[in-house]
Amino acid sequence: TTQDWQAADAAHFLHPFTDFDALAKKGSRIIERAENIYLWDSEGHKILDAMSGLWCVNVGYGRQELIDAATAQLKQLPFYNAFFQTATPPAIELAELLSEVTPPQFRHVFFSGSGSEGNDTVVRMVRRYWDVLGQPERKVIISRNNAYHGSTMAGASLGGMSGMHAQGGLPIPDITHIEQPYWYELGRPQGLSRDDFGRLAASWLEKKILEVGPERVAAFIGEPVQGAGGVIIPPATYWPAIQAICDKYGILLVSDEVICGFGRTGRWWGCETMGTRPDLMTFAKGVTSGYIPLGGVMVGERVARVLIEQGGEFNHGYTYSGHPVACAVALANIRLIQRERLVDRVRDDLGPYLAQHFEALKAHPLVGDAETCGLMGAVVLARDKASGTPFASDLEVGMVCRGHCFGNGLIMRAVGDRMIIAPPLVMTRDQIDEMMVLIKRCLDLTWADVKARG
Ligand code: PLP
Repeated sequence: TTQDWQAADAAHFLHPFTDFDALAKKGSRIIERAENIYLWDSEGHKILDAMSGLWCVNVGYGRQELIDAATAQLKQLPFYNAFFQTATPPAIELAELLSEVTPPQFRHVFFSGSGSEGNDTVVRMVRRYWDVLGQPERKVIISRNNAYHGSTMAGASLGGMSGMHAQGGLPIPDITHIEQPYWYELGRPQGLSRDDFGRLAASWLEKKILEVGPERVAAFIGEPVQGAGGVIIPPATYWPAIQAICDKYGILLVSDEVICGFGRTGRWWGCETMGTRPDLMTFAKGVTSGYIPLGGVMVGERVARVLIEQGGEFNHGYTYSGHPVACAVALANIRLIQRERLVDRVRDDLGPYLAQHFEALKAHPLVGDAETCGLMGAVVLARDKASGTPFASDLEVGMVCRGHCFGNGLIMRAVGDRMIIAPPLVMTRDQIDEMMVLIKRCLDLTWADVKARG
């Protein structure tokens, strides 16, 4: 029964990003099965998964070819490693296919088991790159407040979440942060247009480079759209200005594509949507649509040539780097994305359709702003929509709204008072309509609660 699951869960399972005490008191919601864009919990409730699991199940649940690819590979060769000059056919084939679907500067990949490990690899790889070039003092990596780059020591250090830094004495040395390009909170109150704010926010990178000393800066890392931070969509002027600053000082640009990769923004890669030309690109999640863990770093020719021709052995790797079953699933997943033209669908059809719906949401009395990029979106709940005044944080209005979503068969995430979605790329227009009916219902219920509380 659900109660049995909950009791065993509370007794033994320390969940990630979960308040242990709250879980022990309230019990988890047990998700038992899924199909297409829907989940079913252990009580038989059907739930529309507007978060694609954790931003990953892009091709939807229950895709037989991914299951078949895993099964066939498990029978053929369930594991072999890629250390010490060995390789398996699925890993080689995936490396080749990734170089076809990524921007032209990418011809090489380093595999990891997750996005966090991919970003750890970035830290070691960029430092190795500058070492090999005889500039070992170039160690500093600049990231942004409110970024999320994973939960390992380096990943959490690159991330800009103060709550994460507070636990474990982070960041590790030589990682520093600038403010995020969050127009609604930082630019709008000053009366800045989005474009002017985008240029201003990019100038903070140059300011930081000069403060650190350009000869000490190794790289800048950012998510094209900050995902876990609340789907913070930067102004169109931001990323081109960041690229220009990286070029000016010769520092490496790293695009964390763990969420934005594989079509989420309406192009294969978020950097293509935002107009940058990164030197390194991390990926995970959507590479297998979450069916099995896999991540990695696409390594641009600027870095790859130095590592290959001058670097010798790179003392870094994971048991599961290039895991054959994960790579076989990734191959099936990417071919499915290509065959069903999912990226074009997001760009030409579903993305613009979702954007229209979100535009209409702005009329809701609770909504201060609503925006989308491809098939990810955010709705800002505001106490006073005209001025954008936020609710007091202790009211936890976002969590109230999230509770209504749960109760009404919808998974939406609350980041403070930003309600965010990243639904599967396979959904239909009718399913977007269905999701929007649920979103509006939950906003109405939250609004009623807010009014009742005065
Ligand atoms: N980078 C970004 C942008 C992410 O959103 C995440 C996870 O949500 C990660 C890295 C870490 O990936 P993983 O959880 O696979 O380690």
